[in-house]
Amino acid sequence: MTVRTRFAPSPTGYLHLGGLRTALYTYLFAKKNGGKFILRIEDTDQEREVPGAVELIYKSLREAGLAYDEGPDVGGDYGPYIQTQRRDTYLPYAMQLVESGAAYPCFCTKEELQARRDAATARGEQWKYDKHCLNIPKDEALRRMQSGEPFVIRQNIPLTGTASFDDALYGHVEAPCDTLDDNVLIKADGLPTYNFANVIDDHLMGITHVMRGTEYLSSAPKYNLLYEAFGWQPPVYIHLSPVMKDATRKLSKRYGDPSFEDLLAQGYVRDAIINFIALLGWSPGDEREFFTLQELVEAFDLKGLSKAPAIFNTEKLVWFNHEYITRMPFEDYLAMATPWFDRVLAGKGIDYRRLAELMHTRTEVFDRVPDMVRFLAELPAYGTELYTHKKMKTDSAVALRALELARPALAALENFSEEAVKDLLMTLAAENGLKTGQMMWPVRTALSGQASTPGGATEIAYLLGREESLSRIDKGIEMLKNA
Ligand code: GLU
Repeated sequence: MTVRTRFAPSPTGYLHLGGLRTALYTYLFAKKNGGKFILRIEDTDQEREVPGAVELIYKSLREAGLAYDEGPDVGGDYGPYIQTQRRDTYLPYAMQLVESGAAYPCFCTKEELQARRDAATARGEQWKYDKHCLNIPKDEALRRMQSGEPFVIRQNIPLTGTASFDDALYGHVEAPCDTLDDNVLIKADGLPTYNFANVIDDHLMGITHVMRGTEYLSSAPKYNLLYEAFGWQPPVYIHLSPVMKDATRKLSKRYGDPSFEDLLAQGYVRDAIINFIALLGWSPGDEREFFTLQELVEAFDLKGLSKAPAIFNTEKLVWFNHEYITRMPFEDYLAMATPWFDRVLAGKGIDYRRLAELMHTRTEVFDRVPDMVRFLAELPAYGTELYTHKKMKTDSAVALRALELARPALAALENFSEEAVKDLLMTLAAENGLKTGQMMWPVRTALSGQASTPGGATEIAYLLGREESLSRIDKGIEMLKNA
């Protein structure tokens, strides 16, 4: 048996991180078992469809590195892979169930249904479809269907007994039939509902393992009744615990939680996101934390899946991202950092290569880079208290002395290189009885206007260049004199 798994998103917006995790596990499981990973677009609920969402799914999966073996834009032997393009596939199967009594057409109008639902509610009953149309004799029902009268087709759930299935993670799941509703399988527009299409397509596409969120756990017994009615072998089900924002709510775009695309745009590294997502609800069973996609394929095992909801911990993601950035080759870092430098430093003549060397291990997430380097473009407003630093043994008086010594020496310095600036400032300090910090701290403060910077006084002086450095030191002297 060849393992065939599918990721079956509905094109209702962005690829959220829970969806990405489902796609990832589905991919990993297929690849681990030498199987096929299939993309199917479930777009039969046309009202929920968001324009552009299908293309975004292709793009996101490509960016995530989760190449599918079959899918709408790559083809395959089981296509089409978009459900609306399969619209003629479903009705004959539904009619087969009508024939056998496992389903029946329903002609109730919206108004009729609403009235009976209201009446049930008024009696304090939980509404489910009352099988009203099951009483219509079959030949009459068929005639009405053919006459063009609007109809839906409903699943005929037995009145008694239980429906059940076995989940690879959650074990035996069952539901008393009298709690289950006669769901619509084919809608009035002729398209199937998810409830029906997932069963038909998983069967026709030869899907052997289905991974999806636990929100489908309670419906799966009903799907199993359909498999039984057709006499088909159901796939192995693996329902996945939800990804939570915190103990009380699921991760959701609606609350502003980021999508995969958002994280990429914020400057999270693809491989760091994938590594982090893989560990949201799965563990390799040992202490390892770092995995390439290929290593995940090798390590992936259903035994490592957790039933407990996974909490999306942003600090942990930031930690992973920082680790990945620190480990990436310098040239890659430079290429990734450049557009972020450009946001605030474009046209300023800053040596990006040198700046990147200073920023490489300090970068946690790229979208924090512009704020970290903005001081190079423009001296921020600061107060003279910044010149006071206990450990460096500086205060305003020391700082003023240091800057007044540094100013003319830097102006006269022949070659304004980092090395030369450093030698000069060290020598100046020593000759004038100042400790190194008593020179470096004031100069760095004057050059940057902030307490924490990538690089010290000499690196910043080099990046700014002589002219800008002198002008910032002048500003510092003036501020200290007026303080
Ligand atoms: N279209 C469903 C969704 O987006 C997929 C559920 C499944 O994988 O069966 O949630």
